[in-house]
Amino acid sequence: MAHSRSPEIHHAFAAQCGIPLRYGRIESSPETFAADVARFIAQGGHGLNVTLPFKETATAVADDLSTRARLAGCANTLLHRSDGSVFADNTDGAGLLRDLEENLGLELRGARVLLIGAGGAARGAIAMLAGTGLAALDVANRSRERLRTLLDAWSGRLPELAAADLRALQGPPYDLIIDATSAGLAGESPAVPAGAISARTTAYAMLYGEPAMPFLVHMRQLGAGHLHDGWGMLVEQAAESFLLWHRVRPDTADLISRGPG
Ligand code: NDP
Repeated sequence: MAHSRSPEIHHAFAAQCGIPLRYGRIESSPETFAADVARFIAQGGHGLNVTLPFKETATAVADDLSTRARLAGCANTLLHRSDGSVFADNTDGAGLLRDLEENLGLELRGARVLLIGAGGAARGAIAMLAGTGLAALDVANRSRERLRTLLDAWSGRLPELAAADLRALQGPPYDLIIDATSAGLAGESPAVPAGAISARTTAYAMLYGEPAMPFLVHMRQLGAGHLHDGWGMLVEQAAESFLLWHRVRPDTADLISRGPG
């Protein structure tokens, strides 16, 4: 939370749109999260972003969930509506999709995609990738239990979704490989094997800046032709939250082009 880039992103959007905004940080704990949200709202707060480890709890404090938050089972955005109720949304997957399709120009229809990770970010991604007409969506995760829970949640709803074992992958290569793990924070990369990659493969790390590097370097060494970090996703998910709160979509191009710095 203390490292969040959200305040500067939202203040940049607010300046661009001419909207007065105060966006700060609230340190919370599992024991106080619900009370912290209630206090924020009682003090006139309009909207909140929720970060790890509260994204699942955030759905429990809401009166209503967006479809994508319900599908993901977690929320990163809360809106205090004028009738007093709290609405929870998940803008992570939408931010990812916008970055992939609009900013990077990727064609997802018919694509073979490998998603690594089964946490909230991966679930948010699946909730949005589900509607794009992928040819295959293979999901790998370090812990089998968490992967199984994710697959069970989507059972019967997304036929192209299947479990992948990174150690056994032989090809054909994927069009897109998304690292939705936090391995990079520990300086590690998921062990994607060479058979999963060709020069046509786009490698996308949800992390950005230095923590994205272990995965992106690994992918470059294996010959992936296109490498991107998750800065664009971060800016785009913030823009989706901004849209929900202020009913205006800010332009993201300038912030994205400046990079995470
Ligand atoms: P979670 O804690 O919910 O999940 C973490 C995931 O990473 C799990 O699948 C976990 O596997 C896996 N993992 C952690 N360490 C390792 C490792 N050393 N090797 C392999 N797998 C590992 O986090 P989130 O899903 O919410 O977020 C994942 C990452 O995505 C975060 O680092 C976050 O910063 C980033 N993110 C970026 C966003 C953006 O806008 N750019 C938006 C949201 C998230 P296991 O189940 O085995 O523990």
